[in-house]
Amino acid sequence: MMRFVIIMSLLSLGYVGSANAQALGHKLEISHLTGDFYVYTTYQKYGDQLFPSNSMYLVTKAGAVLFDVPWDSTQFQPLLDSIAIKHHQKVVLCLATHYHEDRTGALEFYKQKGIKTYTTRQTDLLSQQHKEHRAQYLMDGDTTFTIGQYTFQTYYAGAGHSADNIVVWFPKEKILYGGCLIKSVEAKDLGNLSDAHVGAWAKTIKKIQHKFPKPKYIITGHQDWTDTRSMEHTLYLIKQYQRKQQ
Ligand SMILES: [Zn+2]
Repeated sequence: MMRFVIIMSLLSLGYVGSANAQALGHKLEISHLTGDFYVYTTYQKYGDQLFPSNSMYLVTKAGAVLFDVPWDSTQFQPLLDSIAIKHHQKVVLCLATHYHEDRTGALEFYKQKGIKTYTTRQTDLLSQQHKEHRAQYLMDGDTTFTIGQYTFQTYYAGAGHSADNIVVWFPKEKILYGGCLIKSVEAKDLGNLSDAHVGAWAKTIKKIQHKFPKPKYIITGHQDWTDTRSMEHTLYLIKQYQRKQQ
């Protein structure tokens, strides 16, 4: 009986601990991915919980590059500061992968800081329609960038989470930056479907799997990204959704 009581009180202490961590911390988390690549995570309230949003940055000899922006607007400047302190580099470029706020919310703020901001033209049209933030430079199609010693390419495979979602591929490191198009293995459903094209989504994922085989890392827009079965899981969630609709 005594042992049971002790375990119970430890469990409740653990619970209080994690509730406090949510209230106090969880602002800007930076995890080392590989080499000069880092995943950064910020949070917003989604329902009554804090929900994580993942983005990435790459440190090159010619400056740092952001792939998407912090979702939490209080972290726009702290992200730049922490890159300056940690890596002694300025952010020179920021590329957003679709028009939603969790990808574009800081584009105008970063433009004012002298950072070159990019989206596709398709994303820019949607940003204008939905009054989201816009980039200074527009890409007309899939684009290869060389920044410092690194090369990466953008790829539009079709609609899914949104009509305009693109991915970014790093051929040498085999990193697939997927954004919200690719759901975490942790995700229980397809999430926000307000702009989704569920009918096209599976074909889009399969095109990416075909074009970029055997990625070593896949960065999902939200939740845990360490499990690389996320594209298979996204296909499973699409099937599950479509079965329910029938
Ligand atoms: Zn998202």
